[in-house]
Amino acid sequence: MMRIIVQKFGGSSVSTIEKIKAVAAKIVATRRAGFGVVAVVSAMGDTTDELLSLARRVAEDPSKRELDMLLSTGERISMALMSIAIQDLGEQAISFTGSQCGIMTSDSHAGARIIDVRPYRVQDELARGRIVIVAGYQGTSYRSEVTTLGRGGSDTTAVALAAALGAESCDIYSDVDGIYSADPRIVPSATKLAEVGYEEMQELARQGARVLNAQAVEFARQKGIALHAKSTFGAGEGTTIHRPDGFPDHLLRSLRAFGVRGVTGRDDVWVAELPPATPEALSALLAAVGSIDLLSAQVDAERSAARLVGTAENVHDLAAFEARLRAAAAAELHFASGLASAAAVGLGVGDSANALHAAIEQAAGLPDAPRFWFSSRDAVVAVLPAASGKELQRRLHRRFLESDG
Ligand code: ASP
Ligand code: MG
Repeated sequence: MMRIIVQKFGGSSVSTIEKIKAVAAKIVATRRAGFGVVAVVSAMGDTTDELLSLARRVAEDPSKRELDMLLSTGERISMALMSIAIQDLGEQAISFTGSQCGIMTSDSHAGARIIDVRPYRVQDELARGRIVIVAGYQGTSYRSEVTTLGRGGSDTTAVALAAALGAESCDIYSDVDGIYSADPRIVPSATKLAEVGYEEMQELARQGARVLNAQAVEFARQKGIALHAKSTFGAGEGTTIHRPDGFPDHLLRSLRAFGVRGVTGRDDVWVAELPPATPEALSALLAAVGSIDLLSAQVDAERSAARLVGTAENVHDLAAFEARLRAAAAAELHFASGLASAAAVGLGVGDSANALHAAIEQAAGLPDAPRFWFSSRDAVVAVLPAASGKELQRRLHRRFLESDG
């Protein structure tokens, strides 16, 4: 049986024709080393954002179905150009859309989940010796509708294909050379992590680390696929995301308990607060938020009040979203966006008050104090005005990850 490698190249790795050609050479080298190669590509550079803004110039609140039709074209441009570049190097290549490689998803546009992969055409072409180029970030629903997988979803395409094909390796290439203990542009003392567990990586991604998509990591965890985050054009080892030493999750949890592994944050956080209202208003608000991923949700059942925290990432149009929530919640809704978050992430750090206590102390004297903190199982998180987000990340990193901290 042929050994298969799945390689995924992010938008910045295919942002120009020169880069597409350089990536094509890399893919060809892997093929010539004797592997079957499936290369998943993202849209070139900022194409997805540009397509979104095109739609918004046409209408204020474009329908999600048509947005999926539009956004899925970004990856199709990359796949065709990549296939042409590989053919030009003298190898056989063929490009496929998500639907052509059998990526079946749920029915929800803009944030579809992969429910099945039937990669028969990919397998046939690999058996013919061809390199298969796949458009990331998209699939098809059981109603034959084109769907997209949420921002950064090409990672998920790569992991799902690696699982379905029994690939030997799933390599995620981007412009950074691995997972760091913080974003080095924000925290210069951040260090590269040689390995990260699935759950830690998922929480880092959810809280803001952009290197890998959270759903992709969840998929990899379920299927037991090791991911390698590497730099496309640089050398170096990168980071392996796996279950270290094969420890079962619960054992790893107790071994690493309460150790912060990374600090991250976001600058696209929104908060919707419903002051005490009626059960009907609360219910209408939750219905309007729908299936959008939240960072935190808290409901005061006695008074029908709520605080929902989310990110703009999968809300294509924040102003339209806010208007929808306001229309739904009859009572006066407080909605704030453009907030920052700062998070300390590690297995079990949210299980007790200890890390929360230490983290809160780091916020003392910040020019803009956090509005509130919340914890999840593997993170403690502050929500604060944008101006102080990065400084709090630096302080959390110093406190939890620098030895003299
Ligand atoms: N092009 C899509 C995005 O920018 C998907 C991806 O890059 O993975 O979110
Ligand atoms: Mg992209």
